[in-house]
Amino acid sequence: MSARVPGHVLVVGVDGVRFDFLAADSAPSVWALGQAGFLAPVPVDEATPTWSGPCWATIATGTGVAGHGITGNDLTGHRLAEHPDFVTLATRAGLPTLLAVSGWPPLALPEDGGPLFAEATRREFTAVPETGLAWDAARRADREAGLDAWDTADEATTAAAAAILAAAAPRLSFVYLGAVDFAGHATGAGTAYRAALRAADQRVGRLVAVVRSRSSGPEENWTIVVVTDHGHLDEGGHGGREPEVTTAWAAAAGRGIRPGAPPLITRQEQVAPLVLAAAG
Ligand SMILES: [Zn+2]
Repeated sequence: MSARVPGHVLVVGVDGVRFDFLAADSAPSVWALGQAGFLAPVPVDEATPTWSGPCWATIATGTGVAGHGITGNDLTGHRLAEHPDFVTLATRAGLPTLLAVSGWPPLALPEDGGPLFAEATRREFTAVPETGLAWDAARRADREAGLDAWDTADEATTAAAAAILAAAAPRLSFVYLGAVDFAGHATGAGTAYRAALRAADQRVGRLVAVVRSRSSGPEENWTIVVVTDHGHLDEGGHGGREPEVTTAWAAAAGRGIRPGAPPLITRQEQVAPLVLAAAG
């Protein structure tokens, strides 16, 4: 099938999910996408600091740090005007688009040098109250409040995106879920992190189900992509070059993606071109 035929694309970005934690029982929705298409490790290259800012910028723009100029979580000084994100490019091409972001402002709002995603037809942002205390939470109560707050925000973002996908089917949607990364920072890659991963996977499953249950779904030619930006240390945290941190991943299924064929994404720069081609 030609990549030029118009299609619909749903991209779910789940922040900070370790590749080695993905399995049929721990993340069945992502695993099923891998069975229907591919699920592959995507190394963060040597030039890219393993922070959310630069990794998501590379995923969103299809260019590396030398292009977009983002090296940390403050995006100030970026060159996104020359290297726009895939939602903006689709929006400028006249396609209806959706940006639904949970918790981390610079992806969607003019904060900390953002927004990384500049233009979208529909834009939903769910704030997480008192994020600041919890990133480095020393007290157990703070950690638990933070986990609850991020879970609530991811849930609200998922519900908003599901409603829009069911009603309107934007041609290109990006949904960002942040609770897994928060759990890694707050508690390490342990029980709470695994629970957050399971919750994120269930949310991916809900969004996939909404798309697949659309009555005009087959003609809409859906491609679904799920992607993370970096992993986490056992004790929580990232930013270095440890394998569990530098091994990001992507899963995709849909039009033109043959199950069992070599993965179409093995570098973070390959996400945006695949997404834009699938949207037509
Ligand atoms: Zn991240």
